[in-house]
Amino acid sequence: MLDFSQAPFLVIWETTQACDLACKHCRASARPERDPDELTHEESRRLLRQIRDFGDPLMVFTGGDPLKRPDLFALLEESVKLGLRTTVTPSATPLLTDDAVTRIRNCGVSRMAVSLDGADAETHDSFRQVAGSFERTMSALRQAARVGLETQINTTVTRYNRDSLERIAKLVGEEGARLWSVFFLVVTGRAALADDLSAEEYERVFEFLYQTSITAPYMIKTTEAQHYRRYVAQQRRSARGLSNVNDGRGFLFVSHTGEIFPSGFLEVSAGNVKRTTVQEAYRNSGVFRVLRDSDALRGKCGLCDYRNLCGGSRSRAFALTGDYLASDPRCSYQPAPTAACTPSAHTHAPLDKAS
Ligand code: SF4
Repeated sequence: MLDFSQAPFLVIWETTQACDLACKHCRASARPERDPDELTHEESRRLLRQIRDFGDPLMVFTGGDPLKRPDLFALLEESVKLGLRTTVTPSATPLLTDDAVTRIRNCGVSRMAVSLDGADAETHDSFRQVAGSFERTMSALRQAARVGLETQINTTVTRYNRDSLERIAKLVGEEGARLWSVFFLVVTGRAALADDLSAEEYERVFEFLYQTSITAPYMIKTTEAQHYRRYVAQQRRSARGLSNVNDGRGFLFVSHTGEIFPSGFLEVSAGNVKRTTVQEAYRNSGVFRVLRDSDALRGKCGLCDYRNLCGGSRSRAFALTGDYLASDPRCSYQPAPTAACTPSAHTHAPLDKAS
């Protein structure tokens, strides 16, 4: 069982913010050119070694578009050689050729994740703001299947695609992905408040995801919807087997310039890898420590019987209130005023269908 005070379960590294797409909800507000302050190749290698010193966290190379870094394949190889279970999330641009997918597989990467925000070219491409992105996504998924590379599909839920989720879920199964990773909006970067769903609409999407998870041939996980675990626990009347990963608790994000954040959606820096180690920032910085203390939560999250299991999205609380310890404004649950933590909520199990 992982001790989240000492090591994260998941590390996300934003290799670059450069990307040739212009997605409407982009967290990184990505742009085509690379930032000259990006971590250098040697700084990146040092970062990977530090991450390995945590033990065996899942390592995700994200962006921007990681394929915009000319040293991507060398760094993927290094990550795999160090023994990190490595995933990469390329953007569906002309850089994501069949050859690039094969090279990713040849690096020994465990899984490739691609984004799918609509069930057809019209919806998806208007989200990504580049024509042809849907076809490239499909083509990359099929090449991955041909060369035996496991895949994951990421979908960001907004007002514009919530009615397409059933069709997207079907596509995830048809394309043979192992995991459907469903992101809920945090109003940062290019995301707009008007694109987000209401707390009640979140619950309806949770119901759909939960029902889908019962029969789907793939796993479903949510990002920035920690209260989906509360929903699942309510349905099962048990929190057994559910993860309690949250921003800064089992989760660490390193930006393209080396800033160490509790999440890519919560840009409160705990230091920079050019001057400190990820261990020091994760274990000892004030922001990470307080985020792991569910008794520090304020408002109804602080009173909630699910606060150890869920705790609400700290990123969304920060984006919408300016206080990362405030309640998650997109949760409709009303805890009883005297509620105590459920003993079964203290699980550190790996991410499962309901993580
Ligand atoms: S009130 Fe907060 S801790 Fe409780 S279920 Fe909602 S988001 Fe989670």
